[in-house]
Amino acid sequence: MLGGDIPGLLDCRRCTRLVRCMEELPPKKGYERSDYWNRPVPGFGDPLARVFLVGLAPGAHGANRTGRPFTGDGAGDFMYPLLHEAGFASQGEAFRRGDGMALHDLYISNAVKCLPPQNKPNTDEFAYCRSYLAEELASLPRLKVVLLLGQGAFSSFLKHLAEEGIVDRVSRYPFGHGAVYQPEGSPVLVASYHTSRYNVLTGRITGDMFLRLLGQVRELAEGENG
Ligand code: SF4
Repeated sequence: MLGGDIPGLLDCRRCTRLVRCMEELPPKKGYERSDYWNRPVPGFGDPLARVFLVGLAPGAHGANRTGRPFTGDGAGDFMYPLLHEAGFASQGEAFRRGDGMALHDLYISNAVKCLPPQNKPNTDEFAYCRSYLAEELASLPRLKVVLLLGQGAFSSFLKHLAEEGIVDRVSRYPFGHGAVYQPEGSPVLVASYHTSRYNVLTGRITGDMFLRLLGQVRELAEGENG
């Protein structure tokens, strides 16, 4: 069961603040409100993926408009060419659902499926949406590596592991670009700075850094019994 097949996801309105944010968002120049997806954005990708990439939440005029994670905004414009170069994506450009993009050995989603104001989900919103993250995880039978973009996705994933009794103290796993952890009973966790336009423009993350990390993720996925 993947992405849009998760029962209740596409109609979920549990986070009233996020529902309001989507309802009040003005469309960007040249677009109408009716051009916008404006509902929970499901994950997508290879159902037999060994790698699960988790971002924070849909971008206002990217995934929230197109209905597919990292599609149609700066974060995706940075990331998909690198995923393509690393062999995880069939093409380097992502425009919209149905643009021919296929992911290989990779599944992509967000920790929070709806647009948050100022890109900042609150603690309750992360917690509410973890049930969907857990369902996506459970739906990937070959999963070996989870690549977590940014502190928010990283922390929420660790809280999921704590809720499952897999880790005791989340604070034992500090976030840092390139940090790798494998708590017993968990897939390998790899942390990365988020590929947001802000991080790219400020040089916090570069194409070389992200490509190197994707190479490391590939090696981890292909390691023992890969
Ligand atoms: S963020 Fe998740 S839990 Fe909250 S309304 Fe959207 S789909 Fe539902």
